Amino acid sequence: MAQGTLFIVSAPSGAGKTSLVRELIESLDGIQVSVSHTTRERREGEVDGVNYHFVEVPSFEAMVEQGDFFEYARVFDNYYGTSRSAVQAMLAAGQDVILEIDWQGARQVRAQLPDAVSVFILPPSREELERRLAGRGTDEHAIIARRMRDAVDEMTHHDEYDYLVINDDFTTALRELQSLVIARRLTLERVSEHHAPLLAALLD
Ligand code: 5GP
Repeated sequence: MAQGTLFIVSAPSGAGKTSLVRELIESLDGIQVSVSHTTRERREGEVDGVNYHFVEVPSFEAMVEQGDFFEYARVFDNYYGTSRSAVQAMLAAGQDVILEIDWQGARQVRAQLPDAVSVFILPPSREELERRLAGRGTDEHAIIARRMRDAVDEMTHHDEYDYLVINDDFTTALRELQSLVIARRLTLERVSEHHAPLLAALLD
């Protein structure tokens, strides 16, 4: 069976990445999100095994030692990593796979799999990003300023990606992401592999 494509999606917090990716996989068949391992605390509403595999630091370090991670990084004081075997199994089954990872992980993936397609999602303006990071307005100024600094740090790496999507209008941004996935499925290589009998019959 033809291998699926690996998509890397990165964004600063507040760009709407998680909602866009959720809609993307619901709107298309044959595409899944890889569930990362993390050492960070579970947030309210998050489900172990669905949003992340929540693990303790020693377990994470043991996985690093065993070479279980395709990529991993320390992001905001916690470890995050992508299971190599899980991703390989999905790709081998012909599924397209999305990795929602930061710029450090993206670099590691590109180094191992130059064919991976990488997308960076940007907010529509600095003001809108600040508004989204301020949330309900209950957080202290220093906390919001720290989130803003982290977001700007992540955005400085936007030029390492193949595609940029600006999330101003959600529906437009979603359509743009869908287009990237669909276009990739129409490459000569993918169509020739998937439709080898058709091509053989047409050219007979
Ligand atoms: P959060 O804790 O808010 O869910 O995620 C924080 C950051 O970690 C986000 O930028 C997210 O993309 C990144 N992240 C989540 N999972 C992974 C992973 O498996 N690897 C890497 N390198 N980054 C990840």
